Amino acid sequence: MSETKTICCYCGTGCGVIVESDGARVTGVRGDPDHPVNAGRLCSKGANLHLTVRADASRVLRPELRRERQAERRPAGWDEALDFAADKFAAAIREHGPDSVAFYVSGQLLTEDYYVFNKLARGLAGTNNIDSNSRLCMSSAVAGYKATLGADAPPACYDDIEQAGCIFIAGANPAFAHPILFRRIEAAKAANPTLKLIVVDPRRTDTAAGADLHLAIRPGTDVALFHAMLHVLLRNGLADRTFIRAHTEGFAAIEATVRAFAPEAAAALCGVAAEDIERAAHWFGRSGAALSLYCQGLNQSSHGTDNNTALINLHLATGMIGKPGAGPLSLTGQPNAMGGREVGAMATLLGGHRDPADPAHRAELAELWGVPALPEKPGRTAVEMFEAVRRGEIKAIWIACTNPAQSLPHQQQVREALEQAELVVVQEAFAGTETAAYADILLPAATWPEKDGTMTNSERRVGRVGAALPPPGAARADWDIAADFARRLGARLDKAEIAERLFAYAGPEQIFAEHCAVTRGRDLDIGGLSYAQLEEKGPQQWPFPPGAETGAARLYADGEFPTASGRAAFGDIALRPVAEAADARYPLSLLTGRLRDQWHGMSRTGLAARLWNHAEAPRLEMSPSDMQQRGLSDGGLVRIESRRGALTLTVQASSDLLPGQAFLPMHWGGRFLKGLGVNALTLDACDPQSRQPEFKHCAVEVEKLDLPWRLVALRRGDAGAYLRRLQPLLARFPFAAVGLAGVETELVVLRAAAAEAPDPALLAELEELLELDDDANAMVYLDSRRGIAKRLLVEDGAVVGALLTGETAAAEWLKDGMARSQPLAETRAWALAPLAAPPDGKSGRGRVVCNCLNVAEKEIVAAIAAGAGLAALQEKLKCGTQCGSCVPEIRRMVTSNGQQAAMGRG
Ligand code: SF4
Repeated sequence: MSETKTICCYCGTGCGVIVESDGARVTGVRGDPDHPVNAGRLCSKGANLHLTVRADASRVLRPELRRERQAERRPAGWDEALDFAADKFAAAIREHGPDSVAFYVSGQLLTEDYYVFNKLARGLAGTNNIDSNSRLCMSSAVAGYKATLGADAPPACYDDIEQAGCIFIAGANPAFAHPILFRRIEAAKAANPTLKLIVVDPRRTDTAAGADLHLAIRPGTDVALFHAMLHVLLRNGLADRTFIRAHTEGFAAIEATVRAFAPEAAAALCGVAAEDIERAAHWFGRSGAALSLYCQGLNQSSHGTDNNTALINLHLATGMIGKPGAGPLSLTGQPNAMGGREVGAMATLLGGHRDPADPAHRAELAELWGVPALPEKPGRTAVEMFEAVRRGEIKAIWIACTNPAQSLPHQQQVREALEQAELVVVQEAFAGTETAAYADILLPAATWPEKDGTMTNSERRVGRVGAALPPPGAARADWDIAADFARRLGARLDKAEIAERLFAYAGPEQIFAEHCAVTRGRDLDIGGLSYAQLEEKGPQQWPFPPGAETGAARLYADGEFPTASGRAAFGDIALRPVAEAADARYPLSLLTGRLRDQWHGMSRTGLAARLWNHAEAPRLEMSPSDMQQRGLSDGGLVRIESRRGALTLTVQASSDLLPGQAFLPMHWGGRFLKGLGVNALTLDACDPQSRQPEFKHCAVEVEKLDLPWRLVALRRGDAGAYLRRLQPLLARFPFAAVGLAGVETELVVLRAAAAEAPDPALLAELEELLELDDDANAMVYLDSRRGIAKRLLVEDGAVVGALLTGETAAAEWLKDGMARSQPLAETRAWALAPLAAPPDGKSGRGRVVCNCLNVAEKEIVAAIAAGAGLAALQEKLKCGTQCGSCVPEIRRMVTSNGQQAAMGRG
């Protein structure tokens, strides 16, 4: 047995993890008690990381290749696959120029991987066509920092949470997306009851529910709100005019602009009370130290840069920056989005926070790399890149560690681009992603916990990522694949000598040292860092120049900013409308966000059944009044349509939404739901500066669907393998969704619906795929008149498979019983009776709220009804006593059930 220190591979919080392994398998994970970010804690995603580490068919284990588009991919050796890729890339570059190729990489890559890809694109291939999926989550934060503070550098740190007098969370839901930071916020609030927590979010999320003030603004009205808060700060003498005079510029213009933003005027635009805007500004301005945390709600907007800039204006006006407890702190959605920003692996950035549009910066980096020059022509950003592929301008695209056929907006166009490309190379750890289906060359990549290198979290903290296992099969580290390809490409471009020199890396440590050298003298200087030092002293914040003993917890404490004048710049932001407002044809505003236990496109979290129990299937949430207007009821099926595409889903009423709004989690792609996934609907309009697309809202309409024939199929065993078998069937039902469930025992669950019973051959195929066709061990009930059929498979005295068709009311009860090996006698009596509903008094447990201790919604509700509060629930059911990710939800359940009880008594 061995233990390896590393970092969680999900969100940008950057928690330290200790991986326990026996050399071949990961046997467990726990939080690193010595890590300054999480001090031993992990959230529900992090605590289940070990369940996602597999060496089975869920992984890409060897290179695969097809030389013709119409052919099937077949296994290939590394030499054959990389030579074929190099031939194709070199041919495109020779015939159509370097901008006919592109690299689309990921915020999940390690800094060393990113570095090599960037050098490959710019230093060897000669194109700025390298962008990252970080474009989709934080490029507006980058643009906002650069526009105001002069550099892409978050000035605050996590320790400011404990020192703030006011925490202002705008467009973020850390209770779900950055749970360990939210644990720190909860603890800070418990320790300091005067700490004010303000949350700006159109939805009443778990984060908002725990706030002292929730500003449920209309989508896209963030700038109006921030301007109104600035108006109040200035009117009430809460601005720090000394700081403004000494350390900023551009104040007069924004001062004049916000005169028109009296709270009453902004209230009408934002849809919140003027008094609440006043209150927020007073709490912010009088707090002594205000810390702003913000994420996709500000960034994923066609005016995301403006949103960021208007928020930073509040900090500059109050001087709340560069001091303990104060400052703007953007939260990164991905574990190493910051690392990608540092190495400049995005079209609009260059290594060491340099600018590709600046000839001097290009010359500096070219000299450091030892190449004659870097390309001048601007590169394509994510949405533009796939548009150029669709138009045939980019011929060959290399996609590493990301799944654009799930994650980019306007999926119809993305799929057309991938169809149209002459060559698609996908470098990926997980088999079966939506994008892998389009790969001409599929390359097996190592993933967590097989990788060795560094990542940087949201507070500029660089940490070591350790490898606990060797990569399975033929998989290799991402940097190694990129370097190998680069040498082969160089040979074909008559640059063999240069390529050999540029990519002669013995290991990631050498790459990191080169990256550190590229940052020397820049605002993020990490010239003083090394692997040895990170291992000895633990993760460090930048800047960390040569000779430094520690990194900088906060930036700009001296009021000096990395701008030409040394002053920070207020942004004079004008209001702009949302890119796609609701209208008569599409009257609802669709909001997107996250689930607590899933992450991004579910390539990893989707492998662990335990992580499905909190939200087992895709579900559209709508306000009760909008549902009533459309004659919809909970669990009913609807068609949701935008100008770009449509989906069929179940619907659920949510009082967390205002009328006119609908909500869908961003995770669901075409692997789990019929169609092209959530991003079939979303909008590809981009912010003009950051080029970040507007994922957060678009206009939709929802209509009721009448699909009375229902099917639920359940199967225990190798649930992941069954899931992969079922995925191709999704397209053959009018509605279908597939997923996992269970804790100790894993199940695959297929839910489908149609207007009438489908072709019996389809059902027979389904039985065969799930191996339910063993008549000798089946219990079968058939009522042709009522159109009800039940088929249960029994093995070793337990139900291990089920197919319910026509009527499926007992499915949830049956699923829970199968997951915990319910006594066969009880199930047998039901199976052979003319009953579609569960036996008397029986029902499913409902969602599992506490994943660690396996406590379900109905158990918690029953205990609350018996008078239990949070402490009693923790005492009695133990829910919320381990990782704590469910505590905000349990607290809400106590409050809302208590209110309902009080209303009942009233
Ligand atoms: Fe991982 Fe959770 Fe920590 Fe994020 S908060 S880094 S998902 S353990």
